[in-house]
Amino acid sequence: MRFLPVFLDLQTGPILLIGQGEFVRAKLRLLLAAGARIRWYATDGNRGTSGLDAGGVARIEHADGDPLTADLTGVIAVLCAGAGEVGHAVAARARAAGVPVNVMDELAHSTFIFPAIVDRGDVVVAVGTGGSSPVVARRVREKIEAILPARIGDLAGFIGRWRKPINAKISDGLLRRRFWERIVDGPIGALVLAGKGAEAAKALTDINDLSGYAGAPETGVVEGHVTLVGAGPGDPDLLTIKALRALQDADVVFYDELVSPEVLDRIRRDASRVPVGRRVGKPGIGQNAIHKLLIEAAKAGQRVVRLKGGDPFVFGRGGEEIEALRGAGVAYSVIPGITAGLGAAAMFETPLTYRGEALRITFLTAHKEKDADQVDWSTLTDEKMTVVVYMGMTAAPAIRSGLLAAGRSPQTPVGVFARVTRSDAQAAVGLLDNLSALVEQIDGGPAILIIGDVVAHSAPWQAVQINKLASDLLVAAE
Ligand code: SAH
Repeated sequence: MRFLPVFLDLQTGPILLIGQGEFVRAKLRLLLAAGARIRWYATDGNRGTSGLDAGGVARIEHADGDPLTADLTGVIAVLCAGAGEVGHAVAARARAAGVPVNVMDELAHSTFIFPAIVDRGDVVVAVGTGGSSPVVARRVREKIEAILPARIGDLAGFIGRWRKPINAKISDGLLRRRFWERIVDGPIGALVLAGKGAEAAKALTDINDLSGYAGAPETGVVEGHVTLVGAGPGDPDLLTIKALRALQDADVVFYDELVSPEVLDRIRRDASRVPVGRRVGKPGIGQNAIHKLLIEAAKAGQRVVRLKGGDPFVFGRGGEEIEALRGAGVAYSVIPGITAGLGAAAMFETPLTYRGEALRITFLTAHKEKDADQVDWSTLTDEKMTVVVYMGMTAAPAIRSGLLAAGRSPQTPVGVFARVTRSDAQAAVGLLDNLSALVEQIDGGPAILIIGDVVAHSAPWQAVQINKLASDLLVAAE
């Protein structure tokens, strides 16, 4: 390692910046965002600061005269960007005076170099490659950006605020460290990362026995946390970064029938996996039993994930589950997922809205004939409304007759989209009048129905048009 990563305190003095053009403006942006004070020699006389944040610009002091005679007293670093030969001469002076200097892209003239930076408030990650490849440094930074929670800086700030008063109450060093590990890894940390800072502060002040908390879980004091996670429609690459992180952190995962094996593969290897949904042919354990399992696991101090197909709040009974958790005083958070309707739309290129053609979307469920009986079809006759039906395979005949009886045109395009985003996805497109026949073309669910003119824009419909198949029963599979 030639360059040691250290963090420079920007409060202790100005940075001398010498240069011109886009290079110097890029450095200005970086330094001002970091909070630096800057003494700037614009070597081409152009002091324009358009595009820079006004608050930051106030920290720029314009310097006149020859940069070679600049006063280096109190200067914390010298930076040359686009300054050419002048930059080299200034750099030599800075080196002689022992002031750290960077000449952009010129390692030979520099005594320090800039890392690629991940900036999350109090948490800052610097990535360096010893000046050999900024592109590699940027790739590494992107990977770190993806795995670091957005609010990790908030978590550091939260701990920073509480460290002194809490540490004063825990004298033993080891216990202290354990205490903060439990905060970071446990429900209080999860609350901060979920943006619930006030609740986290309350939970922290509610801990009566600080040393006991640090000594848990043997003492049973630590409480777990439940995360409701949307698994999306099947493709594991459609998991959100947060969802992936929750799966990687989990001690136990309670999952539904519709969660794909590929998504289950992303769960931390050592976590226990508990299926709680309906299994093929067998009923599930029931909603109340699920609530009980979640609460028990959380109270036993586990990091619990409740993994649901699609989004937890779209026909997923997520609402009932958070109410049960609230009632039991268990900390929880919710991570959205891509709902099957959106997965179908993206996969089969079916825009759910379309300027002038589709101005509204309704998400509807009609599981059985009797559910279909409860739907007020007259609210769904608007030609400019796209209707997305969940659990609609069995009730397809009732959906068709309900819509037709209410007055929606039998010529309305419909699509039946099965196992969307998975490798065995299938689509059948045609007209509302033929909905039952379309459903029969599909080799099993889960499937979503999309009803509305927008289906005519879909990829399967276009394919069928190109291949000149019968227009009253358009079928495109695979
Ligand atoms: N919470 C889920 C919906 C659960 S209801 C979500 O947001 O997607 C279950 C219904 O969702 C299924 O009957 C089916 O209509 C639909 N569904 C779920 N996964 C699907 C998939 N991969 N392809 C098509 N439809 C799917």
